[in-house]
Order: sequence, then C-alpha cells, then structure tokens
Amino acid sequence: MKYTSIMVRFGELSTKGKNKKDFIRMLADNIKHALKNYPDLTYDVLYDHIYVNLNNTDYEPIVNILKDISGIQGLSLVIKIKSDIDEIKQTALNLIKEEKGYTFKVTCKRSDKRFPIVSDDIIRQVAPVILKNTNLKVDVHQPDIKLSIEVREEGTYVFTKTILASGGYPIGVAGKVMMMLSGGIDSPVASYLLMKRGVILECIHFASPPYTSEAVIDKLKDILRELNKFQYSIKLHIIPFTKIQTKIYEVSDESYAITIMRRMMYRIAQEVASKQHCLAIANGESIGQVASQTLDSMQVIEGVVNLPVIRPLCVLDKLEIIKIAKRINTYEISIRPFEDCCTIFAPKRPKTKPRLHEVEFFEKKFDYLALIKEAIADTKTITIS
Ligand code: ATP
Ligand code: MG
Repeated sequence: MKYTSIMVRFGELSTKGKNKKDFIRMLADNIKHALKNYPDLTYDVLYDHIYVNLNNTDYEPIVNILKDISGIQGLSLVIKIKSDIDEIKQTALNLIKEEKGYTFKVTCKRSDKRFPIVSDDIIRQVAPVILKNTNLKVDVHQPDIKLSIEVREEGTYVFTKTILASGGYPIGVAGKVMMMLSGGIDSPVASYLLMKRGVILECIHFASPPYTSEAVIDKLKDILRELNKFQYSIKLHIIPFTKIQTKIYEVSDESYAITIMRRMMYRIAQEVASKQHCLAIANGESIGQVASQTLDSMQVIEGVVNLPVIRPLCVLDKLEIIKIAKRINTYEISIRPFEDCCTIFAPKRPKTKPRLHEVEFFEKKFDYLALIKEAIADTKTITIS
C-alpha cells in the first residue's frame, strides 16, 4: 500500500512540560530544513506528533533523513484516510496483509471525540475483519504485527511500521558550545553526542602550518559535512597556532610542552567562545587516554578558563568511541593519515602529573597573551553547510 505520511514522534521531548511548544517549533524547523529539497512535502505540526505528508514523494529517502534528526524518537509510516469505519476496516486489512507474521494486535486512540465509535469498539469491529480475511491470530502480549489506528480531527491514521530514530533533543534548545575539533577520531564523536542533546556547535581548530598540511582542513570539512546531517550549518574557526607552538618548545622543558600547549588552546577557545556567545567549551578528551588527559593534567589545563568544559567522551574507551564514529561515518575520514599539530610536536615523555608552579614558571618566559591576541586576530572562519 502507499503510505501517505510519516508520523514523527518526540519521545523524551514529551516530558518537557511548558517548554514543549518551543521544542516542537524548533524540531519542526529542523525537519523542514533537512527536507528542503523535497518541495512536495507538507507538514502538520501538532502537539503530540508532527506529520510529514508525502504527496507522492518516495518515503525511503525521507525516512533516512528523519532518522538522523535529533529530537525524533520514532517514525511511523502511516496511511491517512477519512474517519469512516468502513474505510478504517478496509485500510487496516489491506495494510496488515502486507506484513509478515502469525499474530497481531490492534490498538486504537480516538482524540477526535466527535467520532461516534469509542476506541474499544473500533478495535472490536476491526479485529474480526482481519481474523476472517487472513490466517492471523490475535496475541495481545507479544504480537508479530501491531496495527495502530488513530482517529484525529483531521482524519484517521492507520499504521503497522514504526522505526526507531536517534532520540535526544532538537538541535538549538540547549544553546551553543565551542567544540575543539582536531582531525582525530574523538572530537567528531564528542560533537555528535552534544548535538544529540540539542546543543548547537561552533568548532575551533588549531592549525600549525607548515607542520600541518592544508589537507587537515579538507579532512575537517569532510567531517563537518557528515555532521551537517545533524546540524545543517556549522562554523569552523581556524586559529594559526604555529607561532605559539614553536615558542612553547623554545621556552619550556619538553615534558611540559603538551600541558602548556593545551593551556594555550583552552585560553584561545574560551576567548573565541565568549565572542561567539557560546556557553561552554567542549572537546574529545577521555579520562586517562593520553598523558594530557589524566585528571591531574586536566586540572592544571582547565585551570586557565572559567567557562564550563564539557567532555562528552570522558568515560568512554576508545573502542566505544570508534563504534560511534563508524556509525556516524566520520571514522574513515578521521583515520586518513594526516598529521595534526599534537602528533607532530609530541614529546617523548609528556608529564602525566604536571605541577602548576612549573607550568607557570615556563609560561612566564614569553608574552603569550600578545601571541594569543595575534592568533585570534588572524582567525579564519568558514561555514560548512
Ligand atoms: P582526537 O581523536 O579527536 O584528535 P585525540 O585522542 O587525538 O583526540 P588529543 O590529540 O590529545 O586526543 O586531543 C584531545 C582533544 O583536544 C581532541 O579530542 C580535541 O577536542 C582537542 N584537540 C586536539 N588537537 C586539536 C587541534 N589541533 N585543534 C582543535 N582541537 C584539538
Ligand atoms: Mg588528536
């Protein structure tokens, strides 16, 4: 049978009380934007579902796009008909005949109280039609096929297929965060997890040409194009970092270079974040993954900022991170063999327990504030959409 609409369910959103209206509006905007290349679609934005009406558009590509939109819990492929009991019976029968299985259950919701037959009676009328015309049996506990009927003011929806989507909150509801984006595996995954919570991201990248090649930027663009599935337009601020980095190696003991480098990154990230009205900075750090990610290191590094630092991956191990990276298609891009600035300048024995007074001793040896100011002034910002 030909589906007429896709019913979009909100899930977690449903618990959000009086903010719900704003959430739904934002979700509807995100959906419309993601589907802007399908001009025949129309939308019914209601308090408990959003309907995407297909108007003869093929449903498969639409479902694939909707599955990735944050804030959507599930999708049902529905047939919209007139609220007429004979039509409901016929549609239910036709639809269920296309399904595989031995048992079924009918559920019904009647929000249009003008419809003269109550839900239980609709079920009592529809089920016998199916029993009579198919070999299916009723199983109310674990049916192979669940047939749902929803009688609403604008018509009746009949459906059997429900598809799980990404869940989370609609992007935009949680404010904006500045994500530190390297070319590695971790930071794109951290980005995705934040987007799922409804956070809008801007990204900051520290580039050290000629030690890092322009190819890293291409890699970042490709990663961001994948992330565009979840947020349709993403800003990337590219900070020229070579001067600061070489200076760090001049003034500090090699074992402290990473600690100091990361403090500089954090300082810059915070300034750019504040300028762009971001409420926090975020990165792909995971506790203990490398020397600069021990709790001791994090404490000394994070000490230079006062915005919250969010580390969505802090408790995940690398295998779990890789699994998500593969799922969101960033893994293959991340493992392309281009150096990032951390791997090139990596010291042989980085400190796992850096001492603040030593860090400060080295930092006093150069005017890093001036260098930071210069780097920020030379920022190149691009938008990926
Ligand atoms: P990833 O795989 O994301 O690069 P990683 O395991 O290589 O992470 P590190 O290089 O130690 O870890 O960096 C930790 C985090 O710091 C990264 O996830 C990223 O958020 C940030 N970061 C590192 N290098 C850069 C960079 N050149 N520009 C922006 N952010 C960076
Ligand atoms: Mg890295």
